Amino acid sequence: MAWFKRKDEKIKETKKKTIPDGLWEKCPSCKEILYRHELEKNHSVCRHCGFHFRVDSRLYLDILLDSGSATELFPDLESADPLKFKAKKKYTDQIKTAQEKTKHKDAINSYTGSMNGQGVVLAIMNFGFIGGSMGSVVGEKVSRSIDHARDHKLPLIIICASGGARMQEGALSLMQLAKTSSRLARFSEDGGLYIPVLTDPTTGGVTASYGMLGDIILAEPGALIGFAGPRVIKQTIGQDLPEGFQRAEFLLEKGFVDRIVPRSEMKNTLYSLIKMLT
Ligand SMILES: [Zn+2]
Repeated sequence: MAWFKRKDEKIKETKKKTIPDGLWEKCPSCKEILYRHELEKNHSVCRHCGFHFRVDSRLYLDILLDSGSATELFPDLESADPLKFKAKKKYTDQIKTAQEKTKHKDAINSYTGSMNGQGVVLAIMNFGFIGGSMGSVVGEKVSRSIDHARDHKLPLIIICASGGARMQEGALSLMQLAKTSSRLARFSEDGGLYIPVLTDPTTGGVTASYGMLGDIILAEPGALIGFAGPRVIKQTIGQDLPEGFQRAEFLLEKGFVDRIVPRSEMKNTLYSLIKMLT
């Protein structure tokens, strides 16, 4: 009996030493357990295998623009609900929940600021906000960012992360593809430089519009990039898909992406490209 008692005490002792939740993160690629503080210091990139975790748009703002140089553009734009859309949840409630969760007004934020002293317009999508879906606010902010870049003769960078068009806004959401694409065409005719950065995941309507219309297209390592998802394609064509299909490395090989750039090198790479091309 005494032995059992001792064992029981040992178990209790182990329990006391349990690490609090949220301190550790398991890398989905190499399965290493990572100390969250270290992971954040490394821009949320696994130091064992280089896996790039999905991050909030604020991280890109911190690592890409010079400290204190950013001014947010059009911060007050918010989604209306013209279709009074309701599925499991009311669309207006979905927006409200997403705003509370992410502390963002919608799935993109636009800024003007400097990158190693070079002025830029930077728009950053947020996958955490209803899957980074592109509705009328995203389309409008992208369009206004293009206009701002053109009016101020600045290069434009968009960090893409999206599951596609925002179906809750129906055709209004799909209209944004044509709207942003035509704006970019005009920007290009006027000599503007545009660089999209495709992060995990960039799919659907964003890939079918401003995600693929850059002068140079960059991507983060391992990012899923495509229009329809692999499961849909597999079901449609009835064939197995090649290894690594729709990953950044596959797209680089096929010529859809110009360069894969790790997050830690993104700022200097963008800066060098801007200096070279303007
Ligand atoms: Zn890893």
